[in-house]
Amino acid sequence: MPKIIIAVDGYSSCGKSTTAKLVAARMGYTYIDTGAMYRAVSLYFVQNQIPINHPKAVRDALDHIQIAFQINSGTGRNETCLNGLNVEEEIRKMYIANFVSEVSALPQVRHAMVAQQQRMGRKRGVVMDGRDIGTRVFPDSELKVFMTADTFIRAQRRQIELLGKGEVVGLDEILENIRKRDHIDTTRAESPLRKAEDAVELDTSYMTIDEQVEWVIHLADQRIAELHRKGHFKLKEK
Ligand code: C5P
Repeated sequence: MPKIIIAVDGYSSCGKSTTAKLVAARMGYTYIDTGAMYRAVSLYFVQNQIPINHPKAVRDALDHIQIAFQINSGTGRNETCLNGLNVEEEIRKMYIANFVSEVSALPQVRHAMVAQQQRMGRKRGVVMDGRDIGTRVFPDSELKVFMTADTFIRAQRRQIELLGKGEVVGLDEILENIRKRDHIDTTRAESPLRKAEDAVELDTSYMTIDEQVEWVIHLADQRIAELHRKGHFKLKEK
């Protein structure tokens, strides 16, 4: 069965990663969390006190950063490794969330991450979530989904997620972080977050995760059938 690339872009805490992960599992695709990659770079920069306004220091640091994903045999989840160390828990903390958008706005960081993401998806059969997958990483992805949700609902979801990990954070602090990240992500010069022209928009404010997953799978099935009809896969195989 020929495989496609599903790009899931949008704002943080709209349910992108949970949806993308479940869609990938159902379709037998690989899930790639590109936000985790920017978070891992941010963690390295914090740990090694890299001055982010110093291009040479950033470039040298990037040469020493290796990011990979490994399956946790207990939970079956894909977890992020930075230079061989599992950093999945650390990169989800608030101090990283407060720093990551500044780091991900740096052109050198974006170039390195985008190149790695393109390599990861070159055989297709991936569901990749992020901010620029449909516009920059895989502008030729066969299905592009752009997720949005009410800002307050996003903050509430984030708070529950952090609480589940034992981090108690007030709603005001989370709202401020979300607004700041939205602002930096949408206004940066390099690959700002925006809906690709051919993306299908999904407002998840009042949807359950199950509904979101069904919606994406339905679209993917439709898209694959349409590509079959048009002979797209035969052309690609040649
Ligand atoms: O998806 P997540 O919230 O973990 O992403 C963290 C941050 O990484 C985003 O706020 C954004 O600044 C950055 N990011 C990005 N491009 C991507 C994925 C994430 O700039 N493809």
